[in-house]
Amino acid sequence: MDTPFDTDRQMIIAEVRHFVDREVIPVARDLEQNDIYPLDLIEKLKKLGFFGATIPEAYGGLGVDFVTYVQMIEELSRGWMSLAGIVNTHVLVAYMLATYGTEEQRQRFLPLMAQGDKRGGICLSEANAGSDVQAISMTAVHDGNEYLLNGSKLWVTNGVHGSIFAVLARTDTDTQPPHRGMSVFIVEKGASGLSVSRTFEKLGYKGVETAELVFNQTLVPAANLLGGIEGQGFKHAMSGLEVGRINVAARAVGVAQAAFNDSIKYAQQRFTFGKPIAQHQAIQLKLADMATKIEAARLLMQKAAQKKDQGERCDLEAGMAKLFATEMCQEVTLEAMRIHGGFGYTKEFNVERYYRDAPFMLVGEGTSEIQRLVIARQLLEKYKM
Ligand SMILES: Cc1cc2nc3c(=O)[nH]c(=O)nc-3n(C[C@H](O)[C@H](O)[C@H](O)COP(=O)(O)OP(=O)(O)OC[C@H]3O[C@@H](n4cnc5c(N)ncnc54)[C@H](O)[C@@H]3O)c2cc1C
Repeated sequence: MDTPFDTDRQMIIAEVRHFVDREVIPVARDLEQNDIYPLDLIEKLKKLGFFGATIPEAYGGLGVDFVTYVQMIEELSRGWMSLAGIVNTHVLVAYMLATYGTEEQRQRFLPLMAQGDKRGGICLSEANAGSDVQAISMTAVHDGNEYLLNGSKLWVTNGVHGSIFAVLARTDTDTQPPHRGMSVFIVEKGASGLSVSRTFEKLGYKGVETAELVFNQTLVPAANLLGGIEGQGFKHAMSGLEVGRINVAARAVGVAQAAFNDSIKYAQQRFTFGKPIAQHQAIQLKLADMATKIEAARLLMQKAAQKKDQGERCDLEAGMAKLFATEMCQEVTLEAMRIHGGFGYTKEFNVERYYRDAPFMLVGEGTSEIQRLVIARQLLEKYKM
C-alpha cells in the first residue's frame, strides 16, 4: 500500500512529467541546436523548486529524498539532458554544504541556493587532473582571516552563470598521501582574481556552459572553508561525487527512455515491405533489449539513491548505477538511430541529439574505467580473505 510519502512523491514526479511534456520538449530542439542558455526554462525550474529540491526545508528547500530527486532528474532528462546538468551540479554543491558545512555556512548559502538565483558549480578537475583528483595543483594558503587561492579549474559546468563554487585545493602540499592535505572552499562569483578564461564547444550537452575558471591570488574568507577544518576536502568531494554519479545515472536513464519512446512510436508509423517496421522481428528484438536495459539501469539507480538516503556511503552502488546506465544509454541511443534509419541521422528528429548527449555521461563524474576501478576496490574490500 502507498504511504502518504509515496503519494507526495508520485505527485511531484507527475508535475515534473507534465512540465517536461508541456514546456521542455517543444523548445528543446531549437535551444539545443542553437546552443542557447535556457534562461526562460530556468525561471520555470526555479518556480517548480528544482534548485532547492534536496535542500532541507529548514533552509528553504523542498527537502525531497534522493529516491524522489533521481526520478525528477530522469523526467527532466527525458526532455533535455542539459537542463538536468544545470540542476545537478548545483544540487551537488548544495549537498556538500548541507552535509559538511558549518551551521553558519548552511544559513548563509543554502536559502539563496534553494531559490535558484545563486546557482552552484563544482571545481575539482584541472587540465592535468581529472580521473586522478589527487594530482590537482591548485593551492590555498592560509593568511590571517583569509585564504589565498591560486590555480585554474577546467570543465566547470555552470562556470559562467553560476555564483557559488565548491573549489578543491591543496592546503598542505607536503602531506602524503596528497588527499589528506586537501580542502574545499566556497568561492563566490565576484571574488578578487576569479575569472572565466574560456568556454568549450562540445559535441553535445549544449546550452549549458563548460568553462575554465582561473583563480589568480583569489582571496577567500577563512569562514568559507567547508566545515571549518582543513584536510577534509577530498572526503567531501568524493561523497559529493556519489550524489553526482547517481544523478548522472538518472540522466542516462532519462535520455535512453526518450530514445526508446521515440523509437517505439516511429517503428509503428514507418512502413517497409508493406508493414510497419515494428512488425519485423529484428526491430522487435531491438525494442525488447532497449526497454529491458533501461529498466535494469533504473533499478540500479534507485537502489543507489535508497542507500544514499540512508546516510551511508554508497560508492559501490553509485558506481554500478553510473557505469551500467551510461553504457546502456550509449547503446540504446545508437539503436534508436538505427530504428529511425536515414531520418535518425538528421536534425529533424531528436534521436541524433540523444546520441550526441550520451558520450558525455560516460566521462562526467568519473569515466567508465574509473567506475570499474571503484567497484572492484569495493568488491575486494567486501570479499576480503
Ligand atoms: C562536458 C563536461 C563537463 C564537466 N563538468 C565538470 C565539472 O563541473 N566539474 C569538474 O570538476 N569536472 C567536470 N568535468 C570533468 C570530468 O569529470 C573529467 O573529464 C573526467 O573525470 C575525466 O578526466 P580527464 O578528462 O582528465 O580524463 P583523464 O583522467 O585524462 O582520462 C583519460 C582516459 O584514461 C582513462 N584512465 C585514467 N586513469 C585510468 C586508470 N587508473 N585506469 C584505467 N583508465 C584510466 C580514463 O578512463 C579515460 O579514458 C566535466 C567534463 C566534461 C567533458
